[in-house]
Amino acid sequence: MKKFLKGILVTTMVVAMTAALAGCGGADSAAQPEAASDSESAQKETLIMATNAEFPPYEFHEGQGIVGIDAEIAAAIAEKLGYGFEIEDMAFDSIIPAVTSGKASFGMAGMTVTEDRLESVDFSDSYATGVQVVIVKEGSEITSVDDLFAEGANHTVGVQTGTTGDIYASGDIEKKDLGTIDRYNKGADAVQSLVTGKIDCVIIDREPAKEFVAANEGLKILDTEYAVEDYAICFAKDSELTEKVNGALKELIADGTVQAIVDKYINAE
Ligand code: GLN
Repeated sequence: MKKFLKGILVTTMVVAMTAALAGCGGADSAAQPEAASDSESAQKETLIMATNAEFPPYEFHEGQGIVGIDAEIAAAIAEKLGYGFEIEDMAFDSIIPAVTSGKASFGMAGMTVTEDRLESVDFSDSYATGVQVVIVKEGSEITSVDDLFAEGANHTVGVQTGTTGDIYASGDIEKKDLGTIDRYNKGADAVQSLVTGKIDCVIIDREPAKEFVAANEGLKILDTEYAVEDYAICFAKDSELTEKVNGALKELIADGTVQAIVDKYINAE
């Protein structure tokens, strides 16, 4: 998956996933609605997924398109429910506002279910477990997560803005004067700062962490986990979609589709 991390291009903001689902790699731009040649789908309502496509293997740019575990599960859900499907790429902390304002039908971005978020959105059933881990340089004096909270600790910690890594680090480290938090729009940028020695570690979800470590020399993931979380899809409160999506998700889990998608991006490597 290394190649996906190099040459990331933010060119297509809205992408039809049909091509990616069909395994074509470069998805067609949504500027060419599939409906054009198909009067039936012309009437189809389209689900818009808000995401932050900087989070491999869940969502990332590949060629002109956005692919990944979330992108494919969401496309499969939309297909099962008879909707068209588009992805809109945005900053992670814009996803919930896009959903609550109705600009997007749902948000899916390796998003952790938290009490705070539940105050503004509803979540689907969980479809994956996420683990917050810490990336350090090989040979770092930080050898376990606890080192970040030790008395007198004073590390500069990189996080992605608005993520649970940011929320935890803000409470556990910044508020307790045990270090400084550097916030980045992309996890990859935080990792670059670590590579150049500007920061001491990065707190981020494990699967993207694995990808970033594989793409950069001299980094490793600490063995100890920071937190274990549930990923789910978020919806506007009381949206009728939540139940429908849960139904489709259940079926896609039961028939092995979700596992096959996960295997394609994670286990197969
Ligand atoms: N799981 C983390 C969160 O929900 C990070 C998600 C992400 O960066 N896409 O905050």
